[in-house]
Amino acid sequence: MKHHTRFFIFHALVPLMLTISYTEAHAQNTIKFYSTFAENNVPPADCTQERAVVAPIIDGYQHPTKWTWIIACDEPAWNRVLNHIGQVGVKGEILATTDLQTQVTYVRGFAVIHPFTKTHENLTEHVIAHELAHIMLKSHDEERVEKAASAMMRETRTSVASSF
Ligand SMILES: [Zn+2]
Repeated sequence: MKHHTRFFIFHALVPLMLTISYTEAHAQNTIKFYSTFAENNVPPADCTQERAVVAPIIDGYQHPTKWTWIIACDEPAWNRVLNHIGQVGVKGEILATTDLQTQVTYVRGFAVIHPFTKTHENLTEHVIAHELAHIMLKSHDEERVEKAASAMMRETRTSVASSF
């Protein structure tokens, strides 16, 4: 997987850079948008399309009761996130990143609705499962996290399949 998650010690100033702050409460989870193209505080269509993909995936897994998910809706917005968290020029495609300390996960929205690979549908699920594994394990150990993410995805598929 060409995504990875980093842990950042400094506190994110992201709320200050939010062009729009459209918030949806999912239990006590919050999904926010960070968009370059929002006008009059209305989230653009790409934001809402991305949320429509991401939110059910989060809900389908065991997830923390209090967490903030920020969908960077477009690539300029995502690049500003990367810049903000000091990930510019990192090799490979970062598709999401989690800050365990500030309890924020950033999701690259463009990759959610624009296929990068043929296994695109699984990609977003894998990305979310991976970030959730970081969150639930409170771990930065990529190997351990990825193992947990794979197990989570298998279990979810099994329980969905057995409910038919
Ligand atoms: Zn990771």
